[in-house]
Amino acid sequence: MAYSISRRALLRATTASAALAGLAKLAPLHAAPRAAPEAAPLTQNRAPLAPQPFQPLPTGAIKPAGWLRRQLEIQARGMGGRLDETWPDVGANSGWLGGTGESWERGPYFLDGLLPLAWQLDDPALKAKAQRFVEWTLASQRPDGMFGPASNDDWWPRMVMLKALTQYHELTGDPRVLRLMTAYFAHQLKALPARPLKDWGKFRWQDQVVSVIWLYNRTGDASLLELAALLKRQGYNWQGLFADYPYRTKTSKQAIGLDKPDVPGEVPEGLKDPALSVHGVNNAQALKVSPVWSVVSGDAADRAAIQRQLGALDRYHGLPIGIYSADEHLAGRSPSQGVELCAIVEAMYSLEQSLAITGDAGLADRIERLAYNALPATFTDDMWAHQYDQQPNQVQCVHGPGPWTTNGPEANMFGLEPHFGCCTANFHQGWPKLTTHLWMASADGGLAATLYAPCTVQTRVSDVPVILQQETDYPFRHAVTIAVKPERPVTFPIRLRIPGWSEQTTIRVNGRALVDQPHQGFVRIEREWRTGDRIELAFASRPRAAVTSEGWTSFEDGALVFALPIDETWTKVRQRGLTADWEIRPASRWAFAVKPDTAIERIERPVGPVPFSRRSPPVVLTAEAVPIAEWPLVDGAASPPPAAAKRSGSGRKIVLLPYGAPKLRITAFPSRVL
Ligand SMILES: [Zn+2]
Repeated sequence: MAYSISRRALLRATTASAALAGLAKLAPLHAAPRAAPEAAPLTQNRAPLAPQPFQPLPTGAIKPAGWLRRQLEIQARGMGGRLDETWPDVGANSGWLGGTGESWERGPYFLDGLLPLAWQLDDPALKAKAQRFVEWTLASQRPDGMFGPASNDDWWPRMVMLKALTQYHELTGDPRVLRLMTAYFAHQLKALPARPLKDWGKFRWQDQVVSVIWLYNRTGDASLLELAALLKRQGYNWQGLFADYPYRTKTSKQAIGLDKPDVPGEVPEGLKDPALSVHGVNNAQALKVSPVWSVVSGDAADRAAIQRQLGALDRYHGLPIGIYSADEHLAGRSPSQGVELCAIVEAMYSLEQSLAITGDAGLADRIERLAYNALPATFTDDMWAHQYDQQPNQVQCVHGPGPWTTNGPEANMFGLEPHFGCCTANFHQGWPKLTTHLWMASADGGLAATLYAPCTVQTRVSDVPVILQQETDYPFRHAVTIAVKPERPVTFPIRLRIPGWSEQTTIRVNGRALVDQPHQGFVRIEREWRTGDRIELAFASRPRAAVTSEGWTSFEDGALVFALPIDETWTKVRQRGLTADWEIRPASRWAFAVKPDTAIERIERPVGPVPFSRRSPPVVLTAEAVPIAEWPLVDGAASPPPAAAKRSGSGRKIVLLPYGAPKLRITAFPSRVL
């Protein structure tokens, strides 16, 4: 597999001065900030970057509707919009606002989600909060190009801030962003040889390459391709790691040196390669590494390598919720192992980027599995408290020992910053970036429905303003209606993703059924679209049992995973400003076995004000379960489901809720009863 950028690109690569020349040419176009919906989306990468089937629409072009809007409003009313009022790390004394407080990743993390949230909800107060961070950051740049808090020169937090600034530019067209990025990248190209990437930045280099590609597409400055190649050379070789994957079992502290005390003056054990390469969040960010690099290398093998990576993580560490276990490090396949909230939102973002580059509809199925199950599961209904680690089989959330590889006693409690505050700062990007990626521009000048949720798209096709209104209660229902509203009739292709689980899909345009077969998971409809045109999609899903190689059974229907809710007793441990820390203890039996061939019934109910709440689940399944005698707690968690369990009572009907709703639950059941 080739890692080098093309010869042509290298020959074209010049110094940073050409960068500023390229920028000067571009600047008049961006002189006045303008709203994103007026901007035509980028449909193709600038040569010599490889073409890709889809490009994300500019942040802000897609607004949430229906239940998704309610979910974003919950986030805005909870910690998502008010964290700065109660958590000093992103408050007025943040280093990213010029203060003397936290000056590393937390300010940029917060902004990375706050910006799209504020504009998607068109909320002036949230926009003002976000703008303060942007203004300080843009004004912080030094003559040598470095920016950000002077007290911390780590490359890593700047990678996060670049993600935020590119969104800000898409939202406003503010030309200062291009100037800052151009000067910073020129600085980095000069400085990296003597001050190379280390620890987090070394393992997350691909996130900066995303921003480098973003700027190259806008300025054409060839030195950016040189910088991309340098980041690759200094960064960790993820693709090499997965070529012959060594980490096949639950990580032990001994295996990564964490059983030894750190030696003063040396790199801490947790920041050395063995620990960082099995780190859950690093792996989530690295899901994008091969597709992103394929844009620079042009190598199809790079583009395809994400499948090997996902395959290895599924096989050795896969959980039934679309991600691997990692608490904090890769933790094997037991459904009682945890996965960190940062890993959920970073995996979603990685897969959103990878979906655009590969056009692989299977990645979209996985994004929905994460977004519609793992993401809501790890928050309280009001999004004022979250967990660090969630477990598919989560029978209590209390302070104490856990089955974790390396995490501490607060790891699965709900609160302000249980275990460690990274997730408190980083979770904000989850729902807003899902919204950003519901539709994408296609390379042939059309639009693609890549993920399904209610939304309104406002964009341009062939220079004609186009609005798409997507009405649906997906994933709680399996029908989607899209109203197409171009300002005047215009011909372009619309692609519709067919989820891998849909047993039969019906597509109607203005009432007439289409017979087109999907190609690579998408059906393409090219025609002259006029206002009043309607596309109706109906997917067919039957509730189904999924059985793992270990004999554990879990239940799914469409994009949703279902779980047995355990009655919950909540205890406030301490008040934390506007929020609190909580323990949850079980108040009902959870030791059941369910046979994979159980009769399953699906019952639909109205979608409530809180979409993922056990108080008003929009859909439930029923199944026949058998109470079992022995399913012990080990380290405060349910042990892995027993291979064969002894019956301890008569069978009964149980009701399963969408996984994201209950906070105590069983998701993977033993299936053999003696
Ligand atoms: Zn985290």
